[in-house]
Amino acid sequence: MRFFWLVILSLSLPALLLGCATSDFLGNFNLISPREEEQLGEQLSDEIRKESKEIQDKEIVGYIQAIGQKLVSVSMQPGEPYAFHVIKDDSVNAFAIPGGHIYVHTGLIAAAENEAEIAAVIAHEMGHAENHHPTENMSRAIGAQILTGIILGNEPGALQQAAAGLVANGGLSAYSRSAEREADSTAVFLLNRAGYDPNAIVTFFEKLLAIEKQQGGGSIGISLFSSHPDTVERINNAKAQINTFNVQRASAKEIIGGFQAVNAKVKSMDSTGQDAVKTEARR
Ligand SMILES: [Zn+2]
Repeated sequence: MRFFWLVILSLSLPALLLGCATSDFLGNFNLISPREEEQLGEQLSDEIRKESKEIQDKEIVGYIQAIGQKLVSVSMQPGEPYAFHVIKDDSVNAFAIPGGHIYVHTGLIAAAENEAEIAAVIAHEMGHAENHHPTENMSRAIGAQILTGIILGNEPGALQQAAAGLVANGGLSAYSRSAEREADSTAVFLLNRAGYDPNAIVTFFEKLLAIEKQQGGGSIGISLFSSHPDTVERINNAKAQINTFNVQRASAKEIIGGFQAVNAKVKSMDSTGQDAVKTEARR
């Protein structure tokens, strides 16, 4: 799910609360309507706010939202509701939940070298969201019946458990290979269309590979660019897709502006992120 990335430094992926799906998704058994998906997203995001250290700092969140909205404006579904959130978490990760809510970890902002790399990750998560992968993933993992119960407000325990699992695991359980390919392909398309250098997805993948190697490889779950399909294969697929753009290839590493300040702010945050989390409340 995560598009790419969650570098879990200390946890072995726990038996995911939300189930573990490693085979390709066959057929669409997602019976949740778009309206229900939106409601589910609202409920989960409210719960995630309670369960996580969601950042309220306007400079950081505003920056991520601006990148997200830039990508939404060039997407195939520019009218779709999206909400972009930032969570204080040092792992290099981002994830999407149902209803167009996309979460970026502070560790990802800290690890990125420029705005285009952050945009690459957000665009990948949008690829999952556009294709309703998070909802499919959840309905497969906990069952459409419980999911419907959550939407109706009949399953407060399950809602709370699902939100806690999302926060603890940095997103949903693994997406299928085809879902990851689809999200990667959407990301390259959106980056190019927005004016970002689509090679940012390649440089970020390479960064994750380097982190993986540094950590000894193998045992580190990089969920963002999850380890299947193979990261090298994903890099090659992205490069091949970029080559088809020819003259339209975009090259901006920065469109919104302010990367250095946001990157520095995130890096200087205390380990709890409380400063940024509580700043707004104090004002
Ligand atoms: Zn993914």
